[in-house]
Amino acid sequence: MKKQGIVYLVGAGPGDPGLMTIKGRELLASCDAVVYDHLASEHFLGWVPGTCRKLYVGKQAGRHSMKQEEINELLVTLALSGLTVVRLKGGDPFVFGRGGEEILALEAHKIPYVVVPGVTSAVAVPECAGIPVTHRAVSRSFHVITGHMREGGECLPPDFENYGSLPGTLVFLMGLGQLPAITQRLITGGKSPDTPAAVIERGTLPGQRVVRAALSRLHDAVQREGIRTPAVIVVGETAAYDMKCSALRPLSGIRVGITGTEQFAGRLTRALEAQGAQVSWVLDMKVISHAESAPMKDAYKNLEQYTWIVFTSANGVRLFFLGLRAAGRDYRSLGHVKFAVIGEGTGRELERYGFQEDYMPDSYCAEALGQGLCGILTPADRLLIARSKGGSPVLTRLLGQAGILFDDIPLYEVKGSSVNDSSVNNSPANDSPADKTETLDYLTFASASGVRAYFERMDSIGMPSWLPDAKMVCIGDITARELERSGHKAHITASSYHIGGLVQAIIDHAALSSSKS
Ligand code: SAH
Repeated sequence: MKKQGIVYLVGAGPGDPGLMTIKGRELLASCDAVVYDHLASEHFLGWVPGTCRKLYVGKQAGRHSMKQEEINELLVTLALSGLTVVRLKGGDPFVFGRGGEEILALEAHKIPYVVVPGVTSAVAVPECAGIPVTHRAVSRSFHVITGHMREGGECLPPDFENYGSLPGTLVFLMGLGQLPAITQRLITGGKSPDTPAAVIERGTLPGQRVVRAALSRLHDAVQREGIRTPAVIVVGETAAYDMKCSALRPLSGIRVGITGTEQFAGRLTRALEAQGAQVSWVLDMKVISHAESAPMKDAYKNLEQYTWIVFTSANGVRLFFLGLRAAGRDYRSLGHVKFAVIGEGTGRELERYGFQEDYMPDSYCAEALGQGLCGILTPADRLLIARSKGGSPVLTRLLGQAGILFDDIPLYEVKGSSVNDSSVNNSPANDSPADKTETLDYLTFASASGVRAYFERMDSIGMPSWLPDAKMVCIGDITARELERSGHKAHITASSYHIGGLVQAIIDHAALSSSKS
């Protein structure tokens, strides 16, 4: 029997991915298709299964990409073909979301559906700008009003002046284009021209802006600031409040682009998001193993001739041990060997295989590793350096000068590809690298090979690699030096070489910049 399709109408909240419900997120994680609007944050696309169809039907002011009837039809077709569909809508599905119309279409075809409420921008956007929609003894009600009559409609309803006599807080959605008429007709209807008012652009999202002015001066202020959609207009005594969201985390509103392998990017994303940052994964990096290359095969065969093995990354450790098994050898072939690692992360990875390092330099850099090794090795030693292709020449130069024998063998290389290269649909969430990088505040790098992969990738797709507005953040000195070698400046280098250090460095820098501005 054919699987029964179902449609979940899910509210995505006002924009900040953290403001979507758990239920909504769980449904996204298991759906076959997601049909979504422009306002929903792009982050949810990372929450759907890889096989999920992503269909963008959003409307942007002045540009209607799909008619409501066509959206209804699309939902019906998807559900009738047996799919579990999430219809994701900005804010709450029933607050000017046209959710009702979609439901009627589903009912007409006897398609089961479930509505999952969302956090509406009508309340959350003013709230995140410090404006409560009600306040004891000040505002005993709030009214959510549309500033948009019908598709292409210009004018407000004839009885609009009546809103001017409403007590409490007036919240207008989709009203920015009608702002002069709204303010003027509210005043005609009885609101004092001095009533506090505010307009909030991109509430809860990076780049949120708030303009406050008395009702009669609101339009001028908005024009002066060049405020654009999406925006919420608030009129009433509470608009004078500025109850700063104490839940604001140190990186709230800050956009961070990250580069790295899927596993690393996932961990870094979680750490940054926990601090409130908006994270875009700009460059996916694949680690390609050369453990089965002829030089590595020889090295595995001749392990007995080495007295030391040198690792300069956790990836190197992991791939070395994978390759060891594939080469038909086991840990006994390493019993006589000493290990040198470049830093703690590499040492920790080595420990996972049951080995402790014999040497680790005090500072995480190829130079310190080389100098340290030269101090303890003799010409009788023979080293295997199993590391990333194109690793720092400093290490081998120092060893060579000291007359120490070594084999420097590329164990892996790192290649970059833009995330979402295989396009989905016409979605704005399926951003090109340009869309992703253009508005970044920070761009992070976590390895020298990552830096190289980034520049190679940007070069190969003809994109500028230098982002004038973004600060380049490096996890450590080696990464920073590689960036400098590419002719760029590392604005920030983390003082401890791990994800926590990277996140802290951005927090410190952001705090410093905001105290300056
Ligand atoms: N169902 C949605 C509203 C849809 S109407 C909800 O419950 O929030 C779209 C309007 O919502 C926009 O024109 C704007 O007025 C408002 N809006 C939605 N998200 C917003 C945001 N992040 N910042 C400012 N306004 C927003």
